[in-house]
Amino acid sequence: MRHLLLLLLSVIGLAAAETKRCVFCEIVAGQREQAAVYRDDKVMAFMTIGPVNPGHVLVIPLVHADNYLEVQPEALGAMLAAAQRIGRALQLTDLNAEGIQLLMNTGRAAGQTVFHAHLHVIPRHTGDSGIEQKSEAPRPTMAELEAVAAKIRVKL
Ligand code: AMP
Ligand code: ZN
Repeated sequence: MRHLLLLLLSVIGLAAAETKRCVFCEIVAGQREQAAVYRDDKVMAFMTIGPVNPGHVLVIPLVHADNYLEVQPEALGAMLAAAQRIGRALQLTDLNAEGIQLLMNTGRAAGQTVFHAHLHVIPRHTGDSGIEQKSEAPRPTMAELEAVAAKIRVKL
């Protein structure tokens, strides 16, 4: 009985450590700074810290799923609906998104680096090199990201 209890406690401990390691679960829990764009009962959206272009947003399910293939269908639908709202809003801001690119890298081989499913919503402009560009520019500050997030939020 005692062994069973110890086993149970270590499993719970491992599960807690696993959750703690996920940077996006920390964002969902409000434990990590982020520039928020949108939240409902299934998904949230915030500015990526490494934008391909200004206005680059990530939409994630609130419930952890490692990648696209693991997301529950209702959450997946909510992610797409949120991305549509955000895409429309992006076109109404002075970011002047001519095009919107949706991207979900699934698996390390496909370029996924954060293993909590996320949908990139990327403003695109004619002639830009988008996700292929190797930006030398320093990352935006949280204040700069928050300013862009505020522009998007008012157009949602
Ligand atoms: P991927 O390569 O598709 O897994 O994309 C991961 C995305 O998460 C990139 O756009 C990163 O800049 C972004 N990212 C990583 N850590 C954070 C964070 N703490 N807050 C916001 N975005 C993040
Ligand atoms: Zn997570």
